[in-house]
Amino acid sequence: MKKILIIAGIHGDEVSAVLTAYEIKEWVEKNSLKNITIIPRANKIAYCLGLKENPEDKKNLNRTFPGKKDGTFSERLAFKIFNFAKNFDYVIDLHNYANGRTCLPFILTDLKKQFNKDFANKVGLSYAVRCLGNKGQLFIELSKKNIPSMIIEFGSSEKVERKYIEIVKKAVINFIQNKKNAKVNFIDYKKIKAPSAGKFISKVCLGKIVNKGDVLGLMNKNQIKADSSGIILGVLKDTKNCNKEETLFAVGNL
Ligand SMILES: [Zn+2]
Repeated sequence: MKKILIIAGIHGDEVSAVLTAYEIKEWVEKNSLKNITIIPRANKIAYCLGLKENPEDKKNLNRTFPGKKDGTFSERLAFKIFNFAKNFDYVIDLHNYANGRTCLPFILTDLKKQFNKDFANKVGLSYAVRCLGNKGQLFIELSKKNIPSMIIEFGSSEKVERKYIEIVKKAVINFIQNKKNAKVNFIDYKKIKAPSAGKFISKVCLGKIVNKGDVLGLMNKNQIKADSSGIILGVLKDTKNCNKEETLFAVGNL
């Protein structure tokens, strides 16, 4: 039987991801599945304090893998998690969108590797984003060791959105049960950044299909237009204090 690891709370402030992991854990325990391991709060201290990072060294744990045996707190924690995760056949790392943004559930994995593409097809969800990832991310470092691994990104780190939790839970549980999931669209991901600082208002909702030239939002009453067609995968919530170059929209090119 394939061994599956589901991990959340690598970023301690992503409460929706942690809650989803706990709910999957309950289901796994009810069904007495011994091949599934869940770590709901990987970065425990950061989670208890409601922080993204561990306060001791302020390192982003998801840039620290594979970690160091004798490093800082986060490096040692990364080392422990990485060496544990290496024993699994599949690894799913749950995350929420940060910095005032929210997103539709999507898979982030290194799709250049066929085993990750096969994994994405098994997990389903509607979208898998082609990305190179960053050095030090758990899914990137595990992929280098030929272990199928992905992030599922969904919702917001600032609130609990039940509809996204249910979508992610269903996809993960279907994968565990080897059931057929939704068809995956493999898409490119493009960020639209703030041309200036100021007041931002969004004019589109998540999941909207847009065409080149459509108005996506306003920045200080200036229109922000789509420069290509696609689906709105992520959006920044309306704010009076948007910084220049901040990401306003993530558009998936279908
Ligand atoms: Zn995260």
